Amino acid sequence: MAESPHLLHRLYEIQQKHRYIPDESIGEVADQFGLPISQVRAVVDFYAFFYTSPRGDYHILFSNCTSCGYQARGVDLLQLLSQQLGVSINQTRADGRVSVHETSCIGLCDHGASLLINGIPLVRLDPAGIWQMVGLIESGKPLTEWPQAWFHIDNTLHKRGLLLETDLSPGEGLQALLARGWEEILAEIVQSKLRGRGGAGFNTGLKWRLCKEAVAEARYVVCNADEGEPGTFKDRMLLQQYADTLFEGMTICARVIGAREGYVYLRGEYRYLLPHLQTILARRRQTGLLGKSILAKTGFDFDIEIVVGAGAYICGEESALIESLEGKPGIPRSRPPFPVTQGYLGQPTVVNNVETFIAAAHIAYKGGAWFSSVGTVESAGSKLLSISGDCAAPGIYEYPFGVTLQQILQDCGADNVQAVQVGGPSGTLIDQSAFHRRIGFEDVSTGGSLMVFSDQRDVLDIIYQFAAFFAHESCGFCTPCRVGTTLLKQNLYKIVTNQGTRYDMAELQHTSELVRRYSHCGLGHTAANPILDGLQSFPQFFERRLIQRDFSPHFNLDAALEEARRMTQRDDVDAHLEQDIE
Ligand code: SF4
Repeated sequence: MAESPHLLHRLYEIQQKHRYIPDESIGEVADQFGLPISQVRAVVDFYAFFYTSPRGDYHILFSNCTSCGYQARGVDLLQLLSQQLGVSINQTRADGRVSVHETSCIGLCDHGASLLINGIPLVRLDPAGIWQMVGLIESGKPLTEWPQAWFHIDNTLHKRGLLLETDLSPGEGLQALLARGWEEILAEIVQSKLRGRGGAGFNTGLKWRLCKEAVAEARYVVCNADEGEPGTFKDRMLLQQYADTLFEGMTICARVIGAREGYVYLRGEYRYLLPHLQTILARRRQTGLLGKSILAKTGFDFDIEIVVGAGAYICGEESALIESLEGKPGIPRSRPPFPVTQGYLGQPTVVNNVETFIAAAHIAYKGGAWFSSVGTVESAGSKLLSISGDCAAPGIYEYPFGVTLQQILQDCGADNVQAVQVGGPSGTLIDQSAFHRRIGFEDVSTGGSLMVFSDQRDVLDIIYQFAAFFAHESCGFCTPCRVGTTLLKQNLYKIVTNQGTRYDMAELQHTSELVRRYSHCGLGHTAANPILDGLQSFPQFFERRLIQRDFSPHFNLDAALEEARRMTQRDDVDAHLEQDIE
């Protein structure tokens, strides 16, 4: 498949040249792609990694992930960096030398405090490193002359299981496919009971079959490599070390459903992996594992293109991802219809994540029984976990489904744990009385993130950071989520800053339930999870910050009326309101 210019990639090119996307370029791009200017502008405005004002020669995106510890040991490294560089957070310095912006998790939680500088990850930050970095920036040193250890990513794989113990050789899964035929391979996938590894757990064999059976002009295979759930980084490792097996799984899927084109939607934060992935794709084309007549089989044509996202967490939701692939803002579609019958370009599309395709490739070669011999009744096989936070050995662990949280905490060297957040902010916050619970679709489901919080952490601060994350990442399409997530953040802020009352606790509960119930997509349905879990399992963290009055307004009523007083030129005593209402 010839690499076609994708709208997002064209915008990246322009941005690379100008350090932002100038207004006049929007019209040029609209002409080039035959799109209305309003659509291109909407795309630029939607994605956090497209800028309409210039960024610095050194453009820094500092991860504010709860797990990475950028505020550890009493020093806020982001504040320190911005102070030393003399630039406010989320601003470009007047001389254009540097810009410092805050961003959500960049998938490096096993490397401590981290940032992206001109798209390249820089890890294990500490105050001394920040000082040194400031000096290098001020002297204009190119990144190639910076200490290279800062850019080294380890991929700390602590525990291998079913999938990672022995990798496939390129082509092994495909040879099994051609030897046995797609019907038998689909039967193996069904027998394996493989379920999607993104968290929702839809049956993979069923998804592939539904796609195959849908009437269509074309079918598509899409890999969701947009792992944006804070605390998740296992796909980073899989993409670096197991990309061949991923592409093999996608190609097997293509043969089963009858697709000729596939896409990997790579999260913008992992853009630095693109050259590596392109190299593997090129090698597969050269060796007959991709392209026309794969393994010399006439009519077996399939190729893969990589599309890089642009910093929108919501694009991890499959219909939003498809919108983004089509060059639009990543706003989730109404479902049904589901992508399996009307997905990319309105055609049947299988969307699975990186881990699922890798599992499928193994199943094609080793069989469904091999896979389902591990795990539990509802959750066959293994699960890769990204473990981070307060533990001695953060990194990637592969466990059979059914493992207890207690076992995981013991393995990663976590002591004095008061809580774990499983499945990222949208997942489940669990207190120590429930560490007997098990990872699996029938108990604690997860896309792969597990954050550990010791008794030195304030759980309410963590919940507030999660609420801020959702308020920031809400795509804004539907009111319950757009307004509700902001209200939740504001309400929590009031409590965190010791201004809350019991009334605010009740409001939190009420608003959480509204957001969960009436939002349009999964982001909204799960955005209040940490608050509801916190109110249930950790009420003491809320209560100890409450003031004792029954009611206190969200904002300063008297100050809000200042403009009215100015307009009426009335500022006597009677024109003021009591601020505190008992
Ligand atoms: Fe967008 Fe939130 Fe509504 Fe989903 S729930 S469509 S993220 S506003």
